[in-house]
Amino acid sequence: MEILNNKYVFSGEVDALQLTEKYGCPLYVYDTAIIARQYKRLTDAFNVDKLKINYACKALTNINVLKYIKSLGAGLDTVSIQEVKLGLMAGFATEDIIYTPNCVSLEEIKEALDLGVRINIDNLSILEQFGNQFSDKPVCIRINPHILAGGNSKISTGHIDSKFGISFHQVPHIRRIVEATGMKVTGLHMHTGSDILDSEVFIQGADVLLSIAEEFPHLEDIDFGSGFKVDYKNDGIETDVEDLGIRISDRFNEFCAAYGRELTLMFEPGKFLVSEAGTFLAKVNVIKQTTSTVFAGIDSGLNHLIRPMLYDSYHRIENISKTEGRKRIYTIVGYICETDTFGINRKLNEVLEGDILAFHNAGAYCFMMASNYNSRYRPAEVLIHEGKDYLIRNRETMEDILKNQVEQDIF
Ligand SMILES: *Cc1c(COP(=O)(O)O)cnc(C)c1O
Repeated sequence: MEILNNKYVFSGEVDALQLTEKYGCPLYVYDTAIIARQYKRLTDAFNVDKLKINYACKALTNINVLKYIKSLGAGLDTVSIQEVKLGLMAGFATEDIIYTPNCVSLEEIKEALDLGVRINIDNLSILEQFGNQFSDKPVCIRINPHILAGGNSKISTGHIDSKFGISFHQVPHIRRIVEATGMKVTGLHMHTGSDILDSEVFIQGADVLLSIAEEFPHLEDIDFGSGFKVDYKNDGIETDVEDLGIRISDRFNEFCAAYGRELTLMFEPGKFLVSEAGTFLAKVNVIKQTTSTVFAGIDSGLNHLIRPMLYDSYHRIENISKTEGRKRIYTIVGYICETDTFGINRKLNEVLEGDILAFHNAGAYCFMMASNYNSRYRPAEVLIHEGKDYLIRNRETMEDILKNQVEQDIF
Protein backbone atom coordinates (compact mmCIF):
# COMPACT_ATOMS: atom_id res chain seq x y z
CA MET A 1 0.00 0.00 0.00
CA GLU A 2 1.19 3.51 -0.75
CA ILE A 3 -0.12 7.04 -0.54
CA LEU A 4 -1.22 8.52 -3.86
CA ASN A 5 -3.17 11.80 -4.20
CA ASN A 6 -3.70 11.84 -0.46
CA LYS A 7 -5.18 8.33 -0.40
CA TYR A 8 -3.91 4.91 0.63
CA VAL A 9 -4.01 2.68 -2.43
CA PHE A 10 -3.18 -0.90 -3.33
CA SER A 11 -1.57 -1.79 -6.65
CA GLY A 12 -3.46 -0.46 -9.66
CA GLU A 13 -4.52 2.52 -7.52
CA VAL A 14 -7.32 0.65 -5.79
CA ASP A 15 -8.49 2.89 -2.94
CA ALA A 16 -8.30 1.07 0.42
CA LEU A 17 -10.96 3.16 2.19
CA GLN A 18 -13.40 2.65 -0.67
CA LEU A 19 -13.01 -1.11 -0.25
CA THR A 20 -14.14 -0.87 3.36
CA GLU A 21 -17.19 1.11 2.24
CA LYS A 22 -17.98 -1.40 -0.47
CA TYR A 23 -17.38 -4.63 1.48
CA GLY A 24 -17.61 -3.55 5.12
CA CYS A 25 -15.17 -4.07 7.97
CA PRO A 26 -13.18 -5.92 9.08
CA LEU A 27 -11.76 -7.01 5.76
CA TYR A 28 -8.83 -9.00 4.46
CA VAL A 29 -7.34 -7.67 1.22
CA TYR A 30 -4.73 -9.51 -0.87
CA ASP A 31 -2.76 -7.96 -3.71
CA THR A 32 -1.64 -10.31 -6.50
CA ALA A 33 1.07 -7.88 -7.65
CA ILE A 34 2.95 -8.47 -4.40
CA ILE A 35 2.63 -12.25 -4.66
CA ALA A 36 4.03 -12.04 -8.20
CA ARG A 37 6.91 -9.83 -7.03
CA GLN A 38 7.85 -12.28 -4.27
CA TYR A 39 7.60 -15.29 -6.59
CA LYS A 40 9.88 -13.57 -9.08
CA ARG A 41 12.37 -12.68 -6.37
CA LEU A 42 12.71 -16.34 -5.50
CA THR A 43 12.89 -17.68 -9.03
CA ASP A 44 15.48 -15.01 -9.93
CA ALA A 45 17.59 -15.78 -6.86
CA PHE A 46 18.47 -19.38 -7.72
CA ASN A 47 20.74 -20.28 -10.57
CA VAL A 48 20.12 -23.97 -11.18
CA ASP A 49 18.90 -25.99 -14.17
CA LYS A 50 15.69 -27.10 -12.53
CA LEU A 51 13.93 -25.09 -9.83
CA LYS A 52 10.44 -25.64 -8.45
CA ILE A 53 8.69 -23.42 -5.94
CA ASN A 54 5.86 -25.17 -4.13
CA TYR A 55 3.56 -22.79 -2.29
CA ALA A 56 2.99 -23.95 1.31
CA CYS A 57 -0.71 -23.29 1.17
CA LYS A 58 -1.51 -23.54 4.86
CA ALA A 59 -0.54 -19.84 4.96
CA LEU A 60 -3.59 -18.89 2.87
CA THR A 61 -5.84 -21.33 1.01
CA ASN A 62 -8.49 -19.20 -0.62
CA ILE A 63 -9.02 -21.03 -3.90
CA ASN A 64 -8.52 -17.86 -5.93
CA VAL A 65 -5.13 -17.34 -4.32
CA LEU A 66 -4.26 -20.96 -5.13
CA LYS A 67 -5.32 -20.49 -8.76
CA TYR A 68 -3.31 -17.31 -9.04
CA ILE A 69 -0.18 -18.90 -7.60
CA LYS A 70 -0.64 -21.84 -9.95
CA SER A 71 -0.77 -19.40 -12.87
CA LEU A 72 2.67 -18.16 -11.84
CA GLY A 73 4.04 -21.68 -12.36
CA ALA A 74 4.32 -22.84 -8.76
CA GLY A 75 3.44 -26.22 -7.32
CA LEU A 76 1.76 -26.78 -3.98
CA ASP A 77 2.93 -28.00 -0.60
CA THR A 78 0.10 -29.40 1.48
CA VAL A 79 -0.09 -30.69 5.05
CA SER A 80 -3.58 -32.20 5.19
CA ILE A 81 -5.82 -34.23 2.92
CA GLN A 82 -8.18 -31.27 2.79
CA GLU A 83 -5.41 -29.04 1.44
CA VAL A 84 -4.65 -31.73 -1.16
CA LYS A 85 -8.29 -31.64 -2.25
CA LEU A 86 -8.32 -27.84 -2.39
CA GLY A 87 -5.19 -27.92 -4.53
CA LEU A 88 -6.78 -30.37 -6.96
CA MET A 89 -9.91 -28.20 -7.11
CA ALA A 90 -7.71 -25.21 -7.89
CA GLY A 91 -6.36 -27.14 -10.87
CA PHE A 92 -2.89 -28.18 -9.73
CA ALA A 93 -1.65 -31.33 -11.47
CA THR A 94 -1.21 -34.27 -9.13
CA GLU A 95 2.56 -34.32 -9.73
CA ASP A 96 2.72 -30.67 -8.68
CA ILE A 97 1.20 -31.34 -5.25
CA ILE A 98 3.38 -32.55 -2.42
CA TYR A 99 1.71 -33.87 0.68
CA THR A 100 3.90 -33.36 3.77
CA PRO A 101 1.86 -34.39 6.78
CA ASN A 102 2.97 -34.85 10.36
CA CYS A 103 1.41 -37.41 12.71
CA VAL A 104 -1.45 -38.30 10.40
CA SER A 105 -2.81 -41.83 10.02
CA LEU A 106 -1.67 -44.26 7.33
CA GLU A 107 -5.30 -44.14 6.13
CA GLU A 108 -4.98 -40.45 5.32
CA ILE A 109 -1.69 -41.05 3.53
CA LYS A 110 -3.36 -43.80 1.47
CA GLU A 111 -6.11 -41.37 0.56
CA ALA A 112 -3.52 -38.91 -0.72
CA LEU A 113 -1.79 -41.73 -2.60
CA ASP A 114 -5.12 -42.66 -4.24
CA LEU A 115 -5.55 -39.05 -5.33
CA GLY A 116 -2.19 -39.40 -7.05
CA VAL A 117 -0.18 -36.69 -5.29
CA ARG A 118 3.41 -36.97 -4.15
CA ILE A 119 3.96 -38.31 -0.66
CA ASN A 120 6.52 -37.00 1.81
CA ILE A 121 6.99 -39.22 4.87
CA ASP A 122 8.33 -37.92 8.15
CA ASN A 123 8.59 -40.90 10.50
CA LEU A 124 10.09 -44.39 10.44
CA SER A 125 6.94 -46.20 11.52
CA ILE A 126 4.89 -44.94 8.58
CA LEU A 127 7.85 -45.32 6.23
CA GLU A 128 8.06 -49.01 7.06
CA GLN A 129 4.30 -49.59 6.74
CA PHE A 130 4.21 -47.61 3.52
CA GLY A 131 7.16 -49.54 2.11
CA ASN A 132 5.57 -52.87 2.98
CA GLN A 133 2.34 -52.00 1.18
CA PHE A 134 3.37 -49.69 -1.64
CA SER A 135 6.97 -50.43 -2.49
CA ASP A 136 6.30 -49.46 -6.11
CA LYS A 137 5.25 -45.90 -5.22
CA PRO A 138 7.92 -43.20 -5.19
CA VAL A 139 8.31 -41.34 -1.90
CA CYS A 140 10.08 -38.36 -0.51
CA ILE A 141 11.53 -38.47 3.00
CA ARG A 142 11.55 -35.57 5.44
CA ILE A 143 14.84 -35.40 7.26
CA ASN A 144 15.39 -33.52 10.48
CA PRO A 145 18.82 -31.88 10.24
CA HIS A 146 18.78 -30.83 13.92
CA ILE A 147 19.23 -27.16 13.45
CA LEU A 148 17.69 -24.72 15.84
CA ALA A 149 16.05 -22.04 13.80
CA GLY A 150 12.95 -19.95 13.60
CA GLY A 151 11.55 -16.80 15.10
CA ASN A 152 9.68 -18.51 17.91
CA SER A 153 9.78 -21.92 19.62
CA LYS A 154 6.29 -22.76 18.33
CA ILE A 155 7.41 -22.35 14.73
CA SER A 156 10.83 -23.92 15.04
CA THR A 157 10.68 -27.41 13.57
CA GLY A 158 14.19 -28.69 12.89
CA HIS A 159 15.82 -28.95 16.31
CA ILE A 160 16.72 -32.16 18.17
CA ASP A 161 13.50 -32.41 20.17
CA SER A 162 11.22 -31.48 17.31
CA LYS A 163 8.38 -33.81 16.33
CA PHE A 164 9.09 -33.18 12.64
CA GLY A 165 11.11 -35.30 10.26
CA ILE A 166 13.35 -38.32 10.66
CA SER A 167 16.64 -37.59 12.37
CA PHE A 168 19.61 -37.62 10.04
CA HIS A 169 21.25 -39.86 12.63
CA GLN A 170 18.63 -42.45 11.69
CA VAL A 171 19.63 -42.66 8.04
CA PRO A 172 21.01 -46.18 8.55
CA HIS A 173 17.55 -47.22 9.73
CA ILE A 174 15.94 -45.53 6.72
CA ARG A 175 18.33 -47.40 4.47
CA ARG A 176 17.46 -50.69 6.13
CA ILE A 177 13.74 -50.11 5.47
CA VAL A 178 14.39 -49.04 1.90
CA GLU A 179 16.52 -52.08 1.18
CA ALA A 180 14.12 -54.53 2.84
CA THR A 181 11.03 -53.18 1.08
CA GLY A 182 12.56 -52.17 -2.24
CA MET A 183 10.87 -48.79 -2.04
CA LYS A 184 12.03 -45.97 -4.26
CA VAL A 185 13.10 -42.75 -2.57
CA THR A 186 12.90 -40.01 -5.18
CA GLY A 187 13.08 -36.97 -2.92
CA LEU A 188 14.69 -35.68 0.25
CA HIS A 189 13.19 -32.84 2.21
CA MET A 190 13.83 -30.63 5.21
CA HIS A 191 11.97 -27.72 6.75
CA THR A 192 13.62 -26.19 9.75
CA GLY A 193 11.05 -23.64 10.84
CA SER A 194 9.57 -20.27 10.10
CA ASP A 195 11.06 -16.78 10.30
CA ILE A 196 14.70 -17.76 9.80
CA LEU A 197 16.87 -14.71 9.34
CA ASP A 198 20.29 -16.22 8.90
CA SER A 199 21.23 -17.70 5.51
CA GLU A 200 23.83 -19.75 7.36
CA VAL A 201 21.05 -21.86 8.89
CA PHE A 202 19.77 -22.83 5.47
CA ILE A 203 23.30 -23.60 4.31
CA GLN A 204 23.95 -25.83 7.32
CA GLY A 205 20.69 -27.66 6.70
CA ALA A 206 21.48 -27.98 3.01
CA ASP A 207 24.89 -29.43 3.81
CA VAL A 208 23.35 -32.04 6.08
CA LEU A 209 20.78 -33.00 3.46
CA LEU A 210 23.28 -33.14 0.61
CA SER A 211 25.67 -35.27 2.66
CA ILE A 212 22.88 -37.83 3.09
CA ALA A 213 21.64 -37.58 -0.47
CA GLU A 214 24.57 -39.52 -1.92
CA GLU A 215 23.15 -42.62 -0.26
CA PHE A 216 19.93 -42.53 -2.30
CA PRO A 217 20.51 -43.40 -5.96
CA HIS A 218 17.00 -42.65 -7.34
CA LEU A 219 16.64 -39.01 -6.34
CA GLU A 220 14.83 -36.59 -8.61
CA ASP A 221 14.54 -33.63 -6.29
CA ILE A 222 15.81 -32.14 -3.07
CA ASP A 223 13.55 -29.83 -1.13
CA PHE A 224 15.07 -27.31 1.27
CA GLY A 225 11.73 -26.29 2.76
CA SER A 226 11.10 -22.74 3.78
CA GLY A 227 11.16 -20.41 6.72
CA PHE A 228 12.15 -17.26 4.86
CA LYS A 229 11.70 -14.31 7.16
CA VAL A 230 9.73 -11.39 5.78
CA ASP A 231 9.93 -7.74 6.63
CA TYR A 232 7.27 -7.29 9.33
CA LYS A 233 8.62 -4.01 10.69
CA ASN A 234 9.42 -2.30 7.41
CA ASP A 235 13.04 -2.02 8.52
CA GLY A 236 14.55 -4.28 5.87
CA ILE A 237 15.19 -7.15 8.29
CA GLU A 238 14.37 -10.24 6.26
CA THR A 239 16.08 -13.30 4.81
CA ASP A 240 18.53 -12.21 2.13
CA VAL A 241 17.17 -14.57 -0.53
CA GLU A 242 19.47 -13.17 -3.19
CA ASP A 243 22.56 -14.05 -1.13
CA LEU A 244 21.03 -17.38 -0.17
CA GLY A 245 20.26 -18.09 -3.81
CA ILE A 246 23.88 -17.74 -4.85
CA ARG A 247 25.22 -19.85 -1.99
CA ILE A 248 22.65 -22.65 -2.23
CA SER A 249 22.86 -22.77 -6.03
CA ASP A 250 26.64 -23.26 -5.89
CA ARG A 251 26.35 -26.09 -3.36
CA PHE A 252 23.49 -27.70 -5.26
CA ASN A 253 25.17 -27.56 -8.68
CA GLU A 254 28.32 -29.04 -7.19
CA PHE A 255 26.28 -31.84 -5.69
CA CYS A 256 24.47 -32.60 -8.96
CA ALA A 257 27.77 -32.77 -10.83
CA ALA A 258 29.07 -35.32 -8.33
CA TYR A 259 25.77 -37.22 -8.25
CA GLY A 260 25.82 -37.48 -12.02
CA ARG A 261 22.35 -36.08 -12.72
CA GLU A 262 20.56 -32.73 -12.66
CA LEU A 263 18.07 -32.82 -9.80
CA THR A 264 15.27 -30.36 -9.17
CA LEU A 265 15.92 -27.85 -6.40
CA MET A 266 12.74 -27.19 -4.48
CA PHE A 267 11.54 -24.69 -1.92
CA GLU A 268 8.16 -24.43 -0.29
CA PRO A 269 7.54 -20.91 0.96
CA GLY A 270 4.25 -19.87 2.51
CA LYS A 271 4.88 -16.63 4.31
CA PHE A 272 7.40 -15.32 1.79
CA LEU A 273 4.85 -15.48 -1.03
CA VAL A 274 1.74 -14.15 0.66
CA SER A 275 2.53 -12.34 3.92
CA GLU A 276 3.21 -8.88 2.50
CA ALA A 277 0.45 -9.30 -0.07
CA GLY A 278 -2.17 -9.20 2.68
CA THR A 279 -3.62 -6.27 4.60
CA PHE A 280 -6.24 -6.46 7.30
CA LEU A 281 -8.55 -3.44 7.55
CA ALA A 282 -10.54 -2.76 10.71
CA LYS A 283 -12.58 0.13 12.00
CA VAL A 284 -11.94 1.94 15.28
CA ASN A 285 -15.04 1.62 17.47
CA VAL A 286 -13.83 3.36 20.59
CA ILE A 287 -11.03 5.63 21.77
CA LYS A 288 -10.64 5.02 25.46
CA GLN A 289 -8.32 6.99 27.67
CA THR A 290 -7.29 5.43 30.99
CA THR A 291 -4.89 6.93 33.52
CA SER A 292 -1.89 5.64 31.58
CA THR A 293 -2.96 4.64 28.11
CA VAL A 294 -4.93 5.71 25.09
CA PHE A 295 -6.63 2.62 23.67
CA ALA A 296 -7.92 2.38 20.14
CA GLY A 297 -10.49 -0.41 20.24
CA ILE A 298 -11.35 -1.96 16.87
CA ASP A 299 -14.21 -4.02 15.45
CA SER A 300 -12.10 -7.17 15.48
CA GLY A 301 -9.92 -9.17 17.82
CA LEU A 302 -7.91 -12.33 18.28
CA ASN A 303 -10.76 -14.14 16.53
CA HIS A 304 -9.61 -12.59 13.25
CA LEU A 305 -5.88 -12.05 13.70
CA ILE A 306 -4.30 -14.07 16.47
CA ARG A 307 -0.60 -13.89 15.60
CA PRO A 308 0.25 -11.00 17.94
CA MET A 309 -1.27 -12.89 20.88
CA LEU A 310 -0.10 -16.38 19.88
CA TYR A 311 3.45 -15.61 18.76
CA ASP A 312 4.04 -12.08 20.04
CA SER A 313 4.37 -11.21 16.41
CA TYR A 314 4.60 -7.65 15.24
CA HIS A 315 2.22 -6.31 12.61
CA ARG A 316 2.78 -2.77 11.42
CA ILE A 317 -0.35 -0.66 11.93
CA GLU A 318 -1.35 2.56 10.15
CA ASN A 319 -4.35 4.85 10.38
CA ILE A 320 -5.33 5.02 6.72
CA SER A 321 -8.16 7.47 7.28
CA LYS A 322 -5.50 10.18 7.52
CA THR A 323 -2.44 10.48 5.35
CA GLU A 324 -0.87 13.22 7.47
CA GLY A 325 -1.32 15.30 10.59
CA ARG A 326 0.02 15.00 14.10
CA LYS A 327 0.95 11.61 15.46
CA ARG A 328 -0.23 10.27 18.79
CA ILE A 329 0.58 7.14 20.72
CA TYR A 330 -1.98 4.34 20.97
CA THR A 331 -2.37 0.83 22.21
CA ILE A 332 -4.51 -1.01 19.70
CA VAL A 333 -6.85 -3.63 21.14
CA GLY A 334 -9.72 -5.83 20.00
CA TYR A 335 -13.29 -6.37 21.16
CA ILE A 336 -12.85 -9.93 22.43
CA CYS A 337 -13.56 -10.51 26.11
CA GLU A 338 -10.01 -11.30 27.04
CA THR A 339 -6.85 -9.38 26.42
CA ASP A 340 -6.24 -9.11 22.71
CA THR A 341 -3.62 -6.48 22.11
CA PHE A 342 -2.46 -5.89 18.55
CA GLY A 343 0.18 -3.30 19.30
CA ILE A 344 1.48 -1.25 22.21
CA ASN A 345 2.70 2.34 21.98
CA ARG A 346 2.17 2.69 18.26
CA LYS A 347 2.50 6.11 16.70
CA LEU A 348 -0.46 6.68 14.43
CA ASN A 349 -1.89 9.70 12.70
CA GLU A 350 -4.37 10.98 15.28
CA VAL A 351 -7.19 8.44 15.46
CA LEU A 352 -10.87 9.33 15.61
CA GLU A 353 -13.64 6.85 16.22
CA GLY A 354 -14.70 5.50 12.83
CA ASP A 355 -11.19 5.67 11.34
CA ILE A 356 -9.84 2.63 9.50
CA LEU A 357 -6.63 0.96 10.65
CA ALA A 358 -4.52 -1.16 8.32
CA PHE A 359 -2.59 -4.14 9.70
CA HIS A 360 0.24 -5.03 7.37
CA ASN A 361 1.74 -8.43 6.54
CA ALA A 362 -1.65 -10.01 7.05
CA GLY A 363 -1.55 -12.47 4.16
CA ALA A 364 0.02 -15.47 5.87
CA TYR A 365 -1.45 -17.33 8.86
CA CYS A 366 -3.97 -14.58 9.56
CA PHE A 367 -7.34 -15.37 7.99
CA MET A 368 -6.36 -19.04 8.15
CA MET A 369 -6.24 -18.91 11.94
CA ALA A 370 -9.48 -16.93 12.25
CA SER A 371 -12.23 -18.44 14.38
CA ASN A 372 -15.76 -17.77 15.53
CA TYR A 373 -14.71 -17.07 19.12
CA ASN A 374 -17.26 -14.90 20.91
CA SER A 375 -19.63 -16.13 18.18
CA ARG A 376 -18.36 -13.48 15.80
CA TYR A 377 -18.40 -13.84 12.04
CA ARG A 378 -15.19 -14.38 10.15
CA PRO A 379 -14.37 -11.48 7.82
CA ALA A 380 -14.74 -11.19 4.08
CA GLU A 381 -11.74 -11.50 1.76
CA VAL A 382 -11.02 -9.39 -1.30
CA LEU A 383 -8.42 -9.92 -4.02
CA ILE A 384 -6.83 -7.03 -5.90
CA HIS A 385 -5.75 -7.99 -9.40
CA GLU A 386 -4.68 -5.63 -12.19
CA GLY A 387 -6.43 -2.62 -10.75
CA LYS A 388 -9.70 -4.36 -9.91
CA ASP A 389 -11.11 -5.70 -6.65
CA TYR A 390 -12.84 -9.07 -6.42
CA LEU A 391 -14.80 -10.46 -3.50
CA ILE A 392 -13.32 -13.91 -2.85
CA ARG A 393 -15.07 -14.82 0.41
CA ASN A 394 -18.33 -13.62 1.86
CA ARG A 395 -18.47 -12.31 5.37
CA GLU A 396 -20.13 -14.94 7.53
CA THR A 397 -23.67 -14.65 8.80
CA MET A 398 -25.69 -16.07 11.68
CA GLU A 399 -26.36 -19.10 9.46
CA ASP A 400 -22.67 -19.95 9.46
CA ILE A 401 -22.55 -19.77 13.23
CA LEU A 402 -25.43 -22.24 13.51
CA LYS A 403 -24.59 -24.36 10.48
CA ASN A 404 -23.41 -27.54 12.19
CA GLN A 405 -25.18 -27.15 15.49
CA VAL A 406 -27.85 -29.76 16.12
CA GLU A 407 -30.67 -28.35 18.20
CA GLN A 408 -32.22 -31.19 20.20
CA ASP A 409 -35.73 -31.12 21.54
CA ILE A 410 -34.89 -32.25 25.06
CA PHE A 411 -35.15 -29.17 27.30
C1 LIG B 1 4.45 -24.34 7.14
C2 LIG B 1 5.36 -25.06 6.24
C3 LIG B 1 6.07 -24.35 5.27
C4 LIG B 1 5.98 -22.86 5.08
O1 LIG B 1 6.63 -22.12 6.05
P1 LIG B 1 6.71 -20.52 5.90
O2 LIG B 1 7.45 -20.06 7.08
O3 LIG B 1 5.31 -20.01 5.85
O4 LIG B 1 7.39 -20.23 4.61
C5 LIG B 1 6.87 -25.09 4.43
N1 LIG B 1 6.98 -26.43 4.54
C6 LIG B 1 6.31 -27.15 5.48
C7 LIG B 1 6.46 -28.61 5.52
C8 LIG B 1 5.49 -26.48 6.35
O5 LIG B 1 4.83 -27.19 7.28
